[in-house]
Amino acid sequence: MLRLASAIVGLAIFAQGASPAAQFDALYADIRDQHISRDAARAKVRELLPQIKQDFYARGGKDAAKDAWRFPVAGYAANSIGGTNGSGYLPNGYDWFDGYKSKGHPGHDIFIRDRNQDELDDGTGKPVNVLSISSGIVVAYSPDWKADSILRGGRYLYVYDPSQNGIFYYAHQRSLLVKPGDIVSPGQVIATVGRSGRNAAAPRSPTHLHVMFLMVDDGDYPTPRDIYQDLARVGRRAK
Ligand SMILES: [Zn+2]
Repeated sequence: MLRLASAIVGLAIFAQGASPAAQFDALYADIRDQHISRDAARAKVRELLPQIKQDFYARGGKDAAKDAWRFPVAGYAANSIGGTNGSGYLPNGYDWFDGYKSKGHPGHDIFIRDRNQDELDDGTGKPVNVLSISSGIVVAYSPDWKADSILRGGRYLYVYDPSQNGIFYYAHQRSLLVKPGDIVSPGQVIATVGRSGRNAAAPRSPTHLHVMFLMVDDGDYPTPRDIYQDLARVGRRAK
């Protein structure tokens, strides 16, 4: 009954002409929860991304050169990236279309000083801002994460960057400050660092931002790429 009700709500949103970003957000929720087949999901990604790209430029979105990229954790630098020289990136077994069942860790964790795990910086006593790495358009989010959720990403954001044909993923946040359809630029505050997510909320997990980059150069199969070198480069000049 719940599935039927949500399907009807979905149809109602579609009938009112939901933006392509809002449609992508709904699609990703279905992928995440494994409510859609891989083939159907790929077809929908292929259909929506060009529309999202067109919408981005039509509403004044501007490409960002890689030189303009920003380190995503304000007040922190490259030495806060977990592992040694990017060793935290473990793509084996990961498939975006596996949703909540996906394996591996095809991203990087950036740790903040939060020994008492209250999601506040031990030095400033304040939340730590998450900055958009590049420019793009927000295409999915989860503002209503609950502590008993099995989902690993917690309060996450997906930002599609048309100039890279790629999607940035930011996970485990305390609060989200943007929503699907919002156009963002490098360095814009999009969230605050938190401990949301099945594993990120556990006491064994130091507070961090999880960042992943998915390339979609074939048009319908978001595939992880290691952006450690870019993070390290922009993180060396960050402060
Ligand atoms: Zn991670």
